[in-house]
Amino acid sequence: RRKWRRVVGILKDLEEACETPLGRLRQMVDAIAVEMQAGLVSEGGSKLKMLLTFVDDLPNGSETGTYYALHLGGSYFRIIKVHLGGQRSSLEVQDVERHSIPTSLMNSTSEVLFDFLASSLQRFIEKEGNDFNLSQPAKRELAFTFSFPVKQTSISSGVLIKWTKGFAISEMAGEDIAECLQGALNKRGLDIRVAALVNDTVGALSFGHFHDPDTIAAVVFGTGSNACYLERTDAIIKCQNPRTTSGSMVVNMEWGNFWSSRLPRTSYDLELDAESMNSNDMGFEKMIGGMYLGDIVRRVILRMSQESDIFGPISSILSTPFVLRTNSVSAMHEDDTSELQEVARILKDLGMSEVPLKVRKLVVKICDVVTRRAARLAAAGIAGILKKVGRDGSGGGRRSDKQIMRRTVVAVEGGLYLNYRMFREYMDEALRDILGEDVAQHVVVKAMEDGSSIGSALLLASSQSVQ
Ligand code: ADP
Repeated sequence: RRKWRRVVGILKDLEEACETPLGRLRQMVDAIAVEMQAGLVSEGGSKLKMLLTFVDDLPNGSETGTYYALHLGGSYFRIIKVHLGGQRSSLEVQDVERHSIPTSLMNSTSEVLFDFLASSLQRFIEKEGNDFNLSQPAKRELAFTFSFPVKQTSISSGVLIKWTKGFAISEMAGEDIAECLQGALNKRGLDIRVAALVNDTVGALSFGHFHDPDTIAAVVFGTGSNACYLERTDAIIKCQNPRTTSGSMVVNMEWGNFWSSRLPRTSYDLELDAESMNSNDMGFEKMIGGMYLGDIVRRVILRMSQESDIFGPISSILSTPFVLRTNSVSAMHEDDTSELQEVARILKDLGMSEVPLKVRKLVVKICDVVTRRAARLAAAGIAGILKKVGRDGSGGGRRSDKQIMRRTVVAVEGGLYLNYRMFREYMDEALRDILGEDVAQHVVVKAMEDGSSIGSALLLASSQSVQ
């Protein structure tokens, strides 16, 4: 009985350490808006890098042509081909391929990585083979969607700042990403031009804007997490000569690196960070990214099993970092069988067979606590963006009571958000609570599948049409 009490104590400590009451979320919202501002004023002014993208015009539906996109995410890479007929309704996604990124690639060399991408693209294009038809462009143009921090020098070039999400390819830092891919394509004799280098959030924003011009921000909740939004160029103080015609530019926040001492951090987060290959970095991402949620849950279960015998003998599998994936967390969390059979199955795979129902319920609770915190922090992040651009209803002091709120759309993409219902529900609920009903009714969060990849191709199309 003592042992059970001990485990309940661990759960209680976890719940307390993960608490995100509305007051605290509002502090996060303010902190994010302040950090955004600091990151726009000077290079290195904030942990938020607030990277320039040189994207000043977003797709609106009038684009034409055939384009390709290759997307290197954190866990997957995708290749797509789209045809645009000059109207929203004529957008045609002609082919999509999605593959897991082999783990061996994440620690390989840049040559191996880019040759792998080039060979995948080669296969994709060869498949078109005899389907070659009149809609085929004279020269193939490719958008490279790249889900890692890049310091862009133009819409089609930029250097890697650092790897995240478990990637470690040392000689890449400082290299022009688009050139690396182009080099690998040329080596294979592929006649295709890397004409845009696009962060995945910017792709998602482009896709959102193509369908709905009220879209002003995009957030990705996948393996990692990041956001971008449309900012007025005169607010981007660190950029003297933004060379835009529209008066605004998309800013890639790189919000995974956001940090505040007010973030509800637990001992499990500290351990996870200390053991990661990028410790003291990406603190926000490590609380909300799909790569990490499973591992936080694993660490809690491990501690419980070390301090009691309710899980049976200590499982050596459970000591393996990242062995519990976030997909399994959502499967356990959303297990609606009366006996929690899915939870039992997953725990068995982790080396813990015959865990009693009472303990299985405890595991579901751990999943709930960790995911709820993630989703509520994610909502605070979105509200932070809305505050920065004056769409949170506070009006920056200029608001009269009768001020009309403008409809605001935030595009959301990523496997965590799209596939994990409880994450989605907690996030939507927290956003409504933070904004209040009056404001929230004007804010639309729109989910989009494959938005990042398709959107990058759309962005490439629109950048070509203004040249
Ligand atoms: P990437 O991050 O590689 O661009 P995605 O946006 O598709 O790819 O996100 C994949 C991530 O989403 C997975 O690594 C996982 O963390 C999370 N994910 C996918 N499916 C689920 C699910 N059913 N439940 C919870 N998380 C999921």
